[in-house]
Amino acid sequence: MKFHTTGKYDLVICDIDGCLSPESHAPINESALSKIAEHNRKAVQKHDRPMVTLCSGRPISFVEAMSRFIHNTLIPCIGENGVWLYHPDVNAFEMDPTITGEHLEVVHEASKLLRSKYHAEGVTQQPGKSAAVTLYHPNAEYLRSIVPDVKEELFRRDWPFRVSMTWFYINCDLHHVNKATGIKRLFASTGIDPSRTAAIGDTMSDKFMADSVGFFACPANAESEIKNSAGYVSPFEEIEGVIDILSQLNE
Ligand SMILES: [Mg+2]
Repeated sequence: MKFHTTGKYDLVICDIDGCLSPESHAPINESALSKIAEHNRKAVQKHDRPMVTLCSGRPISFVEAMSRFIHNTLIPCIGENGVWLYHPDVNAFEMDPTITGEHLEVVHEASKLLRSKYHAEGVTQQPGKSAAVTLYHPNAEYLRSIVPDVKEELFRRDWPFRVSMTWFYINCDLHHVNKATGIKRLFASTGIDPSRTAAIGDTMSDKFMADSVGFFACPANAESEIKNSAGYVSPFEEIEGVIDILSQLNE
């Protein structure tokens, strides 16, 4: 699905948590979300502004739902930090073809190991992940304190994981899959020119997005370290920041 606009950018790739929805479990600002849906409808009709698609660590079913809320009917969205592409034009899910049966077995083993180590402490695993393990605990400080231990457990078994902490989750992702490999697949399948794309993110896991596109921006609530990669930091938080960034990109 080739998409080209009369403006400077053809595509904006947006993170979800901390950008389109609150990082916490608070309700989503649906009136602001509907403005992004309107933006996308106009992009499809007039080709005068970039389409907005999604790139998230969330399970792909959550990303698919968000993609439908923002009326992205054309451009693949990325879930599970690059594991999945969902093609909304043909309703197709596509796992990264470099993920083998052996990788899936290692993920399953890691899930079992981490469950046995931390289940009694109240650590749960985010449901709906196919090739990654994401840990959650209501006390983010506790979760942060076990990151070194989680890394050690996985690394000493020589399992191919990258362990990273977002605001409230520990992500254990396959080492060779990340948001950049997902975006690369998106570009390959759409033919969109990377230099005519922008991305929006709020944590260091979005550095993979920043390094893949022509322009990167953050909402005000972003981690200070990722703001160093941004060409623009909105004075507004979360989705209000995204709406502000979209208006800046279109000028
Ligand atoms: Mg985020």
